[in-house]
Amino acid sequence: MSQFWSPIVHELKPYVPGEQPKSKDLIKLNTNENPYGPSPKVLEAIRLASSDQLRLYPDPDARELKQAIADYYDVERNQIFVGNGSDEVLAHIFHALFQHEDPILFPDISYSFYPVYCGLYQIDYQQLPLNSAFEIDVNDYLQKNGGIIFPNPNAPTGCLLALDKIEQLLQENTESVVVIDEAYIDFGGETAISLVNKYPHLLVTQTLSKSRSLASLRIGFAVGHPDLIDALIRVKDSFNSYPMDSLAIKAGVEAFADQDYFKRSCKKIMDSRVWLVEELSELGFEILPSAANFIFARHPDYNASELAAGLREKNVIVRHFKHDRIDQFLRITIGTQEENQQLLAILDTLI
Ligand SMILES: *Cc1c(COP(=O)(O)O)cnc(C)c1O
Repeated sequence: MSQFWSPIVHELKPYVPGEQPKSKDLIKLNTNENPYGPSPKVLEAIRLASSDQLRLYPDPDARELKQAIADYYDVERNQIFVGNGSDEVLAHIFHALFQHEDPILFPDISYSFYPVYCGLYQIDYQQLPLNSAFEIDVNDYLQKNGGIIFPNPNAPTGCLLALDKIEQLLQENTESVVVIDEAYIDFGGETAISLVNKYPHLLVTQTLSKSRSLASLRIGFAVGHPDLIDALIRVKDSFNSYPMDSLAIKAGVEAFADQDYFKRSCKKIMDSRVWLVEELSELGFEILPSAANFIFARHPDYNASELAAGLREKNVIVRHFKHDRIDQFLRITIGTQEENQQLLAILDTLI
């Protein structure tokens, strides 16, 4: 029945997310979810919000959530945009800020949703190769462009770009918007939100899916100059006025309030990362330096897709990408310490 499709639909190459298996017996280290649940205070807030009030539409501005984020980062509420997951926030960014004559720029190895949005909104793009250490070199981005975007730390490499490099890029590229996708910043990086008041062409996105354990609720946000935020609001209100449901708003507020819980669970994950890197190195793996809740590892003597299949047979799922430059790597999400130990025990039998 595809003769009924709008022409562009034939051209789309949709994003394929990591597998979400039904079985609870699997050790799921494939989609960078947090192995620890959300704060008990978040769960309580959701319970309290589950009431007769659900018959009402939520606040279309999600003011309460924007205020909580603004307070947390010491910016104004009109510098915050919130959306149904940062994927949706990113989609609006591509639509509202990246549809220009010149191509937008992002790394060859990066979040694989970016080219998908370009397909949807018909935006030209150019992918710039990471250097041989799989790092971003900001000097590569100093060319005419319609916008720049990359994750920091980058995905799926986990490599962090220092804040002074980002500032250098902002000083040298002033004619287009620079978007830093900080989905993993809480696991050891320094946020670029501190720079938004100095650079009106900087937009920083974050998510509550990873460091705040709320992937299921879909909460993402962007921080930047009010003019950039206005553009996003115009697109959002031409699309869906109520992207944030009332339970997500309440949970998001509480997730920012309970800083102790947040800090403790990030620390547990970072400690496990140090441990896992050490153990995997002993097995002969080479691991890129990671500032995220996952590591990107390859073994010089073993084929990555065979290792992934071997793990899968033992009920451990990791992510393997069939992209030329990285097809010998496995992306492994940091699990609970027990899960990490099981992963290691299985790899020990495979190697
Ligand atoms: C997980 C991830 C996102 C999406 O986060 P959601 O808020 O769950 O939509 C965006 N960018 C990168 C780089 C990610 O890894």
